[in-house]
Amino acid sequence: MMENHCYEQAAQRVETIRKQIAQAAKQAGRDPSEIRLMAVTKTRTAEEVNEVIAAGITLLGENRAQELCARYEQYDRKNCEIHFIGRLQTNKVRQIIDKVTMIESVDSERLAQEISRQCQKHGVDMDILLEVNIGDEESKGGFDGKDVEEAARRIAALPGLHIKGLMTIPPIEDDPEQARAYFAATKRIFIDIKHKNIDNVSMEILSMGMSGDYPQAILEGSTEVRIGTALFGPRNYSVPQL
Ligand SMILES: *Cc1c(COP(=O)(O)O)cnc(C)c1O
Repeated sequence: MMENHCYEQAAQRVETIRKQIAQAAKQAGRDPSEIRLMAVTKTRTAEEVNEVIAAGITLLGENRAQELCARYEQYDRKNCEIHFIGRLQTNKVRQIIDKVTMIESVDSERLAQEISRQCQKHGVDMDILLEVNIGDEESKGGFDGKDVEEAARRIAALPGLHIKGLMTIPPIEDDPEQARAYFAATKRIFIDIKHKNIDNVSMEILSMGMSGDYPQAILEGSTEVRIGTALFGPRNYSVPQL
């Protein structure tokens, strides 16, 4: 274990977040072990990421293919999985296909088709989540709530892909309480699809909640929270991006 100041800070933050998760779970009458904590690594150095891994994080969320490829070898990956959570261009799929165990940001059938194609090429399978644009925002990718089930039926038929659930990023609000309606709406879609028992679609993972609203997401049924700022501190976008 690293004994330096940064490791101490990372360990503190992980503990604080786990306490908050436990508290929200308790309030919702849920078992905290149902909720997985992801560290969102965008703009962080490999050293910072390895500190949170040393502090017990077992799941990383990556937004950019290039950033992932640049740091992949430097990560302490032994006890850690990597999920892709960012906008993914079809021409970048092949760069990440052998580095991640799940792609959470599947926002179109075209992207799903390309992931399936790369899976066949590399002889692997890929777990995926369908991203839901729950606030019908033009700036965001993802399926409209009303289209998710049909998309799930078609995507589930593509070779190599396994749909494991849904991911969403609600519209930005001043008050996290306002996000709850969006989380609840996503949960309803999740449950509806679950009850349809579609072949090769298992609704297990509901990925929602970030630093500003994860307690609210847990109250509405999230099983995975994606945390950047609360874990690493504010992001510095002035450093050159890859
Ligand atoms: C950046 C990001 C997060 C984490 O955001 P914070 O507010 O820093 O916790 C979560 N999910 C996605 C898809 C992101 O891009």
